[in-house]
Amino acid sequence: MPFSVIGAEKLSALAAIGKTFDGAGAEKKSMAQGTLSVHTERLFPIIKKFLYSDHEIFLRELVANAVDATQKLKMLASSGEFDGELGDLTIKLGFDKESKTITLTDRGIGMTETEVEQYINQIAFSSAEAFVDKFKDQSDGAQIIGHFGLGFYSAFMVAEKVVLQTKSYKDAPAIEWECEGSTEYEMREAEKEDRGTTLTLHIAEDSEEFLDADRLKGILEKYARFMPVPIEFEGEIINDKEPLWLKKPSELTDEDYLNFYKELYPYSPDPLFHVHLNVDHPFSLTGILYFPKITTGFDPQAKNKIQLYSNSVFITDEVKEIVPEFLTCLHGVIDSPDIPLNVSRSYLQADSNVKKISSHIVKKAADKLGELFRDNRQDFEQKWSDVGFFVKYGTLTDSKFADRAKAFSLVKNVDGEFFTFDEYAEKTAGNQKDKDETLIWLYTNDAHQLDSYAAAAKARGYDVLLLDQPIDSHWIGQLEQSLEKTRIVRVDSESLERLIDKGTELEQMLGKEELESLEGIYRNQMDDKGIEVKLEPLQAHDAPVTVVQSEWMRRFQEMSRMQGRADMGMPSFTLIVNTNHPVQKRILQKGGEPAAELARQMIDLAKLSGGLLQGKDLSAFVQRSMRLSGE
Ligand code: ADP
Repeated sequence: MPFSVIGAEKLSALAAIGKTFDGAGAEKKSMAQGTLSVHTERLFPIIKKFLYSDHEIFLRELVANAVDATQKLKMLASSGEFDGELGDLTIKLGFDKESKTITLTDRGIGMTETEVEQYINQIAFSSAEAFVDKFKDQSDGAQIIGHFGLGFYSAFMVAEKVVLQTKSYKDAPAIEWECEGSTEYEMREAEKEDRGTTLTLHIAEDSEEFLDADRLKGILEKYARFMPVPIEFEGEIINDKEPLWLKKPSELTDEDYLNFYKELYPYSPDPLFHVHLNVDHPFSLTGILYFPKITTGFDPQAKNKIQLYSNSVFITDEVKEIVPEFLTCLHGVIDSPDIPLNVSRSYLQADSNVKKISSHIVKKAADKLGELFRDNRQDFEQKWSDVGFFVKYGTLTDSKFADRAKAFSLVKNVDGEFFTFDEYAEKTAGNQKDKDETLIWLYTNDAHQLDSYAAAAKARGYDVLLLDQPIDSHWIGQLEQSLEKTRIVRVDSESLERLIDKGTELEQMLGKEELESLEGIYRNQMDDKGIEVKLEPLQAHDAPVTVVQSEWMRRFQEMSRMQGRADMGMPSFTLIVNTNHPVQKRILQKGGEPAAELARQMIDLAKLSGGLLQGKDLSAFVQRSMRLSGE
């Protein structure tokens, strides 16, 4: 396995048992046969079947081993333990369709006979075995994080025979090891002049798809494009890109970040901004996250764009368990050797490093947003339609983020002005407190459909917010809880007088009997069971009739719908009849059918301005209008 944490543990274990093996190795002839542990009989079929769709990772594992071996040699050279020529350290991948082989050559540290015995026959095997033991009962491969390190033996997912030739940097004879995917292997001395390791995979019939240049190149580009040792395939170096995330942010320009983004996502529009992650303690994490443009709301397609690396080796682009849900639509790269890879997903969520990494990412994202807000408010406002989505989603799902986001969350009014919560509270404090001193924020979620309501509220000197993103209906609820003594209501949720109920009663212009007969006339015209009738004295110049929908009822019904519950058939609309409007007197004077018709017309007018008049009701309204105006 290429992952350093595991590697380090293993190395110290090896140091401890090394002596025993030296003794055993000395007795071996130059030609040896061996039998791998009996428990491993089932190993190969299981390895082969395991996660069928992931077979391509054999190449990642083997290339990562080659890179490790090369890096180790470089380290030995810099510490003076190795004083020979390093020479060209390029790792080379080749394949041959005729002989059905794939070969991988490195010029790293190589292995002595004893080391092959230890690392390949014992250690590598036991780790592959441990892996299979752990996961053999999990029939659902997807339960396990998509890609894991099976190490050297993952070669047997695609090969029926593996030949390993290796010559150590130490002065020792070259060794050839051969295994045909059974529990038996052969080991002999080999003719190999050059230091390093060559692996030859004899590809099994069902894996011949890998004997293809495009396929191999694709796999290399996916997993190895940021590996730190040059890798050559078909005469080309496939990884000449340095991982930008490993550089110091101070050494990078905006252009560097943008170019890197374009390299990762050639078809995406330029991102809005980025966050560079760089932690060594108490966990190790590097990476660059980009905020993409997502004006169209939540697009599941846009998810899974974050690539997870471990020491520059690509692991997966399914980061759901590592990055909080609301940030999964970010793009970019995170690289951490501290994320356990060969465990099931549920375990991963409980892992303490993963939790820390996740909250670090949340904090960094919030810090960045705060910084952008402070440094260039105008620009931040322009980006709000994209950024606002993350912020709202984050506020709803992550309480820590919600606390941080208060400082830079914005609301926009129908005139396109932006305010922070504090600014908006100040703006509305003068005119929008009700009789209980509760601040009432008004909003519309549809600038066109609710235009008449918004205009009426504005005519009273109220400010109206535009909260028209799909996520806003949830966000509003959350917002109310976090703001002090504030309610947020839609402009059509009450009559204009009650929208912000200041406790004043307007004088009633009609007498008791008039009110009773007016109510009767209107009620008779209501064939819509979902609408209640309520008489209310408003100002004479306010609309004669309006349809309102209680904020509470509407939210309740929206929630039921969202949770797939049936509508309970409760009335949620109310028809407010403005008893002080002059038209009511005319209706009363007319009486009979003409009164009914005029009342009907008022109701339809109210429905029309609330966007509730459709189909044949609409054409009936138009015909009636013509009749009435011809009268
Ligand atoms: P891991 O890499 O996790 O240790 P592997 O099964 O991939 O497990 O490899 C087992 C060991 O075999 C490695 O730790 C390493 O010591 C040795 N090894 C594998 N490939 C090479 C190679 N190309 N050159 C030198 N040593 C290697």
